[in-house]
Amino acid sequence: MTTHREGRTRPIPFIDLATQRQRLGDRLDRAILQVLEHGRYILGPEVAELERQLAAFCGARHAIGCANGTDALALGLLARGIGPGDAVLVPAFTFVATAEVVAWTGATPVFLDVLPDTFNLDPAALDAGLDTARQQGLRPRAVIAVDLFGQPADYDRIEPFCAAHGLWLMADAAQSFGATYKGRRAGSIGLIAATSFFPAKPLGCYGDGGAVFTDDDELALIMRSLRVHGQGRDKYDNVRIGMNGRIDTLQAAILLEKLRVFEDEVLARQTVAERYARGFADLGERCRTPVVPEGMTSVWAQYTLVLEPGVRDRLGAELKDQGIPTAVYYPIPLHQQTAYRRYPVQAGGLPASEELAGRVLSLPMHPYLGATDQDGIIAAVRAGLAA
Ligand SMILES: *Cc1c(COP(=O)(O)O)cnc(C)c1O
Repeated sequence: MTTHREGRTRPIPFIDLATQRQRLGDRLDRAILQVLEHGRYILGPEVAELERQLAAFCGARHAIGCANGTDALALGLLARGIGPGDAVLVPAFTFVATAEVVAWTGATPVFLDVLPDTFNLDPAALDAGLDTARQQGLRPRAVIAVDLFGQPADYDRIEPFCAAHGLWLMADAAQSFGATYKGRRAGSIGLIAATSFFPAKPLGCYGDGGAVFTDDDELALIMRSLRVHGQGRDKYDNVRIGMNGRIDTLQAAILLEKLRVFEDEVLARQTVAERYARGFADLGERCRTPVVPEGMTSVWAQYTLVLEPGVRDRLGAELKDQGIPTAVYYPIPLHQQTAYRRYPVQAGGLPASEELAGRVLSLPMHPYLGATDQDGIIAAVRAGLAA
């Protein structure tokens, strides 16, 4: 056990799954054992129950469990027949999966800029994205809006734009399950919404997992078929090209137990976020805290600061020396990553995405972050910035 300068006897975890595990206790063990006993490892009863509870939680008509969040996004694109010659507008400041799935289908991701204060897709960039797509001879078909760091995108502006231009909307809610946008919950926004249960997401399992949501009965049927190789009514007559995209029964059983404490954890995350906001409130442009506009809530998948230029890497290293882990989400915007440089970007470029990539720093964020540890983090960041 290491003792850090401030006398902490254990390092602060970036995300504390061990404390959550303790809280879940025997119930979780029993849920896992029950799967081992009934032995229906693939699409067992826990999967159907999880789908029912996920749909009820967010107010979507259908929830379909998936192998991971990336497959969830891919199912949405496949179900809508996205393919070569199509353009899908996506933000450049996000996790790679958002654009990766578009490239899988043979369609072209067109990169748009984000807003510097919310980190989410800039609705004003949509027009430029359409122009870029058309100039490249592509058919604009869809927008994937990302709820980055747990906060919903600006759907009141994105949805009407999509409706006006014949585009359909998919919400990449991989980081935002549990968040709300003007009374609507993430998962219920967009023609299709996709989420991830990767262990570090706000609702995470103990491996890979995800889900896709829709209110459309027909699309739900198609996505259920695509999830099992495009299966038709006859199991061995596959009627479309699909994938193996199922969630394991074991992961579903684990998620059902985690869902029982999830609402409470979401509230705890909010308390932690508010404490950070107070702790840095006076620092202004030297250390910008996330802006959550009126009427929405974040589920705080990450707590991400925007620091004054040039200090991020030094501060991260100093915090690490003091046993405080940090992370950079994301150091390279997608349009600058090796495999994605060949895809088009909106006219005018992506200055906000590029600027954020150089200045963001994410701090430890989880529902079990105690006030003492958190005050230590705040003090260390403040001291580092003053240095
Ligand atoms: C995590 C994540 C994904 C992919 O989810 P996986 O379960 O890891 O496949 C997609 N988009 C965003 C924004 C994510 O954060």
